Amino acid sequence: MSHLDTDAVHLGREDLGELGVHVPPIDLSTTYPLPTIETGGLAYENLATGGRPVDGASLVYQRLWNPNVDRLERSVAALEGCAGAVAFGSGMAALAAALVATVAAGRPHVVGVRPLYGGTDHVLASGLLGTRVSWATADRIAEAIAPDTGLVVVETPANPTVDLVDLDAVVAQAGDVPVLVDNTFATPVLQRPARHGAALVLHSATKFIGGHGDVMGGVVAGDAEWAVRLRQVRAVTGALLHPMAAYELHRGLQTLPLRVRAQQETAATLAGRLAEHPRIARVLYPGLKECDPAGLVGTQMAGPGSLLAIELRGGFEVAATTAQRCRLITHAVSLGGVDTLIQHPAGLTHRPVAADARPGDALLRLSVGLEDVEDLWADLDQALRA
Ligand SMILES: *Cc1c(COP(=O)(O)O)cnc(C)c1O
Repeated sequence: MSHLDTDAVHLGREDLGELGVHVPPIDLSTTYPLPTIETGGLAYENLATGGRPVDGASLVYQRLWNPNVDRLERSVAALEGCAGAVAFGSGMAALAAALVATVAAGRPHVVGVRPLYGGTDHVLASGLLGTRVSWATADRIAEAIAPDTGLVVVETPANPTVDLVDLDAVVAQAGDVPVLVDNTFATPVLQRPARHGAALVLHSATKFIGGHGDVMGGVVAGDAEWAVRLRQVRAVTGALLHPMAAYELHRGLQTLPLRVRAQQETAATLAGRLAEHPRIARVLYPGLKECDPAGLVGTQMAGPGSLLAIELRGGFEVAATTAQRCRLITHAVSLGGVDTLIQHPAGLTHRPVAADARPGDALLRLSVGLEDVEDLWADLDQALRA
């Protein structure tokens, strides 16, 4: 491992010189020639049970293995400081695989720390995948753990209020129960949950890793044993990442550190100005002292990131008008891309969340992009003053 910026550019490309190419070739094969039934069968068995291909062996079938997906996975694993990573067709597919693996291990109880992404909250609350959830605050995890608890699920910064959770404290309370940390908001540029003892690190790669709003994907990083289990789940559920998508996400990693830091700088400036705005009751941003009482920015996180939420003076109507009046900023869900997005969590991303856990009606979430800070400020100011 070199420095993160260097790794982001070069990981998963170690063999390109030898191949005589400058960028990774895209392999779209759905099937691969089999030298003999015997060697093909052994390769099939190895891959279908979650193994990595043996040198020179056939890759058999795209649902079992793809070289572009492998390049992305190895890169994300190294950036997160994990032994392995497994990529899926979306962040929800990645989460679903972790939950299915947990149920299959005979420990279907999950402790969830709210707030979580709306889809994560929904899959846990509904029990659609056979899990049973207990909701706990970050300081009451230990008492929520049961003999059949298979996973603790946390998000930090959490969606949409950008609350920070102390991962050392969570892992200590979880004991031997694996902790899954959704690291979508922070990215490995700002936070590496595995260093704090997280067993699984989840990304909606659709967000910062892709970074341009044009590709969906998900990744779970963990130890070698988890990687085997998750690849097995992927092989039987078919929740694949397409090789083209893997190529784009792998390319996205190259500019990830640069984008994350530039977007963060603009977000910090906007958060400071918004906090003074007469139409705003409260700004939620980890870079503001009152939002980070435990001092996790600078210790657990290298920086506060580029997601922030604003609580408007007034209710739903004011929030709706503000979101709809933005011109440069797009009124849309999703986050982490090069362009700035604004959305109303209670009405959109967190719609499926139980009423008592849903964010307030006056709350808007902003994902700050790479535009000039003055243009963003002018757009927000005119929308707020309307
Ligand atoms: C978007 C998102 C997800 C879900 O990812 P998809 O790629 O949309 O399936 C999970 N967690 C967080 C924090 C997200 O923002």
